Amino acid sequence: SRGRVKEQWRTFSKGGSSGENSAISVAVRVRPLTQREQQVGTKCVVSLSGKEILIHHPHTNRQLTFSYDYCFGSQNPEDKGYASQEVVYCLLAQPLLDKVFEGYNTCLFAYGQTGSGKSYTMTGYADEVGIIPRFCKEIFWKVNLTQQEEEKHHIELSYFEVYNERIHDLLSSKDANAKKKALKVREHPILGPYVTGLSTYVVGSFADVQTWLELGNKQRATAATSMNERSSRSHSVFKLVVAQTKREHLEGEAHDHMLVSHVNLVDLSGSERCNLAQTSGLRTQEGASINKSLLTLGKVISALSEMSQFKRKCFIPYRDSVLTWLLKESLGGNSKTAMIATISPTAAHVEETLSTLRYASQARNIVNVAKVNED
Ligand code: ADP
Ligand code: MG
Repeated sequence: SRGRVKEQWRTFSKGGSSGENSAISVAVRVRPLTQREQQVGTKCVVSLSGKEILIHHPHTNRQLTFSYDYCFGSQNPEDKGYASQEVVYCLLAQPLLDKVFEGYNTCLFAYGQTGSGKSYTMTGYADEVGIIPRFCKEIFWKVNLTQQEEEKHHIELSYFEVYNERIHDLLSSKDANAKKKALKVREHPILGPYVTGLSTYVVGSFADVQTWLELGNKQRATAATSMNERSSRSHSVFKLVVAQTKREHLEGEAHDHMLVSHVNLVDLSGSERCNLAQTSGLRTQEGASINKSLLTLGKVISALSEMSQFKRKCFIPYRDSVLTWLLKESLGGNSKTAMIATISPTAAHVEETLSTLRYASQARNIVNVAKVNED
């Protein structure tokens, strides 16, 4: 399997028209056709060619081209660069993991319309594990490798949802009523934003992590079934705090110094909520607030991208939404960010796909060929 992965790697040499040194790396992943789509002979309008993605617009007959750091294909007949869960992990997430041990904060998030593969990419299945479990497994593999007298690690995790601009603990041991209470965000002058009353657990092994992940995913699924459409409207954040103590000897004296990094792995709400004109009542409110988090995230990322690219100072509107406020420490500054935009390959979804690709391009401030073609 290692050999196969190596083979696939060659297809994915890092590229892109700009942002080589950007703090944000952006990838796009195409989901395969569903069984139903295959049965009815659905055509793919998306094809991949190296670091470029081509969209054949079914109505205008025009071809639009976008490019990113990586384009990951599925096993659809039109896709060239098929990327397994392992390849996606190795290319996009592993570079962040290395940064964690250097003391950087990191953030990886999945953006895309409902049903395009965000949860598949972030969580996956038992036999096709996604980024979150792989990341945790490798953290402990590295920790065990370096764990000695001179270097100690302390790792904590939490798992929560942001739904309708409110935070819900996915690892709470409280009773059902207490769980319904939304948690608040506060900002510590030195330690930054945090969630009051959120369960955090110390984990000493990958097995510990798995236990909490399973519980959190179960609570997520339960919340989704009891509340219609919650799974597509909520953002889920899996968070690790990795503290390393390193002992150094200076002039015969031992000095401990500590590095703390925050890791946020985020499965965003369905991006269709960003465009949809909602009608009335609760739907409006939900639509509006999810809209707010996603829109603010877009603004934050594009401002950060601009700042790193043009070395100019900009105002970053972190506090305009709950999600961006909480991610403040791991977006920009001393941090490394990656985004994976997931898309559907079919003609029926082409408008959503284009909107996702534009969001991803904006995140990287790429001036695309597509932008010229479109107008
Ligand atoms: P989202 O979280 O964006 O709503 P899901 O991750 O639940 O979407 O994906 C929808 C369906 O498509 C699931 O059945 C999932 O297994 C499948 N799927 C998505 N992306 C892939 C992929 N790259 N490879 C295989 N199956 C995928
Ligand atoms: Mg999902």
